[in-house]
Amino acid sequence: MSIRAKLAWTFILLLIFGITAISSYSILFIRNYLLTEGEQQIINDTEWLAITIQNLRIDEDFETNLNEAARTSGYRLAIYDENGLLFADVPYYQELQANETIDENIASLVRNTQGSLLLNDAAGERLTSYVGLETIHNPAKYLQVSISKEQIYEPIKTIRWIIYTGMFISIGLVLIVSITFSRYISKPILQLESAAREIAGGNTSKSLNLDRNDEFGTLAESLNRMAEKLRADNIELKKLYQKQAQFFADITHEIRNPLHTIAGSIEMMQLSELNEDQRKKYLLTAERQTHRINRLFKDLVTLQRYDSDDQFIQKKRFDVNQAIQMIAELYESEASEKGLKLEASGHSFDVEADPDKIEQVLENLVSNAIKFTNSGTIKMSAKEENGEILVEVQDTGIGISEDHLERLFDRFYRTDKARSRDKGGTGLGLSVVKSILNAHSSEIHVESTPGDGSKFWFTLPKA
Ligand code: ADP
Repeated sequence: MSIRAKLAWTFILLLIFGITAISSYSILFIRNYLLTEGEQQIINDTEWLAITIQNLRIDEDFETNLNEAARTSGYRLAIYDENGLLFADVPYYQELQANETIDENIASLVRNTQGSLLLNDAAGERLTSYVGLETIHNPAKYLQVSISKEQIYEPIKTIRWIIYTGMFISIGLVLIVSITFSRYISKPILQLESAAREIAGGNTSKSLNLDRNDEFGTLAESLNRMAEKLRADNIELKKLYQKQAQFFADITHEIRNPLHTIAGSIEMMQLSELNEDQRKKYLLTAERQTHRINRLFKDLVTLQRYDSDDQFIQKKRFDVNQAIQMIAELYESEASEKGLKLEASGHSFDVEADPDKIEQVLENLVSNAIKFTNSGTIKMSAKEENGEILVEVQDTGIGISEDHLERLFDRFYRTDKARSRDKGGTGLGLSVVKSILNAHSSEIHVESTPGDGSKFWFTLPKA
């Protein structure tokens, strides 16, 4: 059963039940009221009928007068003599039943009662009242006045008709109102249900405008927000998927290149006319390429661990200046081979970070600086600034143009792919730097002028 039908039936049943209950209660109340009124009336009437009958004489008009009294009062009148024998019964019986007597118990009750005695048998069909008579002109001793309850309830027939007509009109109105109201109530529910189904089916562009200020309006707004969030998440997921696809394409490309070179070198080495120097040259090329693949995998594993392992960083207190000096010594010879000066300056600064990972950051930055600088100086330094330790690696190299800066730290991004590969670069060095610093809640910054050189810097918290 639909929600609309359920609501309509609930209203209809509730209202019909309510209307029927009120109508029945009204009828019952009126019946009781009429009966109480009838009882009061019969007591009063019995008294004046007694006075009338006491004054009747036994003559030819006796029966006519009695009939007249019964007709005008609307009661059945039965008169018993002092022996309790019925001698007049109007207006029902024309002929008296022989030897019909008054109940002895009633007669004695009447005798002992001042005024009239009302007998109301709840299950009985008639309301009956008795009174004792003090007659001189006729032998009447007991007067029985009775009326059928149906007669008392007579006015209720009209009232009942009015109530039933009202009830049916009300039920009719209730039907119309219930159906209209249930439509009004269920319309937004149905709209919400259909919108939710569409959104669940993937139509995240679905937007619902109920134009209502109640809970349904709020629910519709929430649904719209949910669809919007889903839409944004979907776009994000698509981007992520594209990024991932690109990432795998890049890896494949990065591995295919050195493998290609290695395969070429092996092929060349198999040539019989090759002299020893040439063979050595191809061997060296193959060796370099295997190193490159090795480095690539190492960087990839590092990046993957930063993405998935929160415990990868083990922070402790260490002197960042010592780390700078150590890296400077390590790269001294490589720099001087290219005719570059490598300077490491600064005071001792204790920082709270992972020393191995910070050394890796410095290594990546210094090796890049050496790779992309043809002449001049490479400076490494640490200084205190705004309560933090600022670490800088600056070179006088080829520099990076502005349009590359935004994507410089993306995986496999290079300003000059061929040149980077020539220099044995994997295109992951700066991504690793960025990941390590992010894991330290820090950021890598770059400032560069093409032709003049570049400066990379980051901050670390003072220990
Ligand atoms: P790669 O293995 O190619 O060095 P990186 O992620 O370390 O990969 O660097 C990405 C690119 O950023 C490099 O290919 C180069 O184009 C540019 N780059 C990095 N450091 C410097 C620098 N000091 N001077 C000029 N260009 C740089």
